Amino acid sequence: MSIANSIRKYREELGEVQLVAVSKTKPSSDILEAYNAGQRHFGENKIQEMASKFEELPKDICWHMIGHIQTNKIKYMAPFVHLVHGVDRRKVLVELNKQAAKHNRVINCLLQIHIAKEETKFGLDQDELDSIISELSDFSNVKVVGLMGMATNTKDEEVVDGEFKVLKSLFDTYSAACGWTTLSMGMSGDYNLAIKNGSTHVRIGSAIFGARNYS
Ligand SMILES: *Cc1c(COP(=O)(O)O)cnc(C)c1O
Repeated sequence: MSIANSIRKYREELGEVQLVAVSKTKPSSDILEAYNAGQRHFGENKIQEMASKFEELPKDICWHMIGHIQTNKIKYMAPFVHLVHGVDRRKVLVELNKQAAKHNRVINCLLQIHIAKEETKFGLDQDELDSIISELSDFSNVKVVGLMGMATNTKDEEVVDGEFKVLKSLFDTYSAACGWTTLSMGMSGDYNLAIKNGSTHVRIGSAIFGARNYS
C-alpha cells in the first residue's frame, strides 16, 4: 500500500485517537507524501534528524520527539517541538525548562514509564514518577500532559495487554488531579491492544512507511 493510502486507512480506523506517524530514518519526501494525504503529526527519535526535517518541511507539521533524549541536544528542538514523549529523568525536565524559557515557550511533554520486561527500554518506575510529579511546580516552562510507555516486544498478547493495563491504571491514578489528557502507547504491532486499553496517541512507523533500513 502507498504511504498516502496507509495514512488514509489509519486515520479512518483510528478516529479520535491521534496518529503520530513515525518517520524516523525516512526521507522528507516520504513525510511530504503523508502530509499531502492530510497527516500533520510526525514522530522522530533523533533530535538533530527532526530539526533538519523541520527546516525542510511545511511549518504546520507538529513534531513529536519519541526517542530517548540526550540533554545536550534539547536546544535544537526547543524552538519548535510539539510534544516530547520520552521524559524519563529529572535532568531532561531541567534542560527542557531552561531551553523552553529562552524561546518564551511552554513545552508539552509526557513522562515515560518503564512497563516492559526488557532492560533496554527506558522509563520511570512508580517511585520516580511520584517524586517527579511532586517537583513539577519548579518547572514553569514545561507542562506534563500525560504518560508514555512501550510494551515488551513479544507476540504474547497477554503480556502486552497486562503492561498497557499497568500504564493505564497509573494514568488514571493521576490524570484528574494533574489535568492530564494524553496517554501515548501503541506502535505498528500492538496499537489495537493499546487503543482497547485507553491510548489517546499511537506511534505508528513501519506499518505506514515500510521497514526501516539502518545500514
Ligand atoms: C520506532 C518507534 C515507534 C514506531 O515503531 P513501529 O513498530 O515502526 O511502528 C514507536 N515508538 C517509539 C518510541 C519508537 O522508537
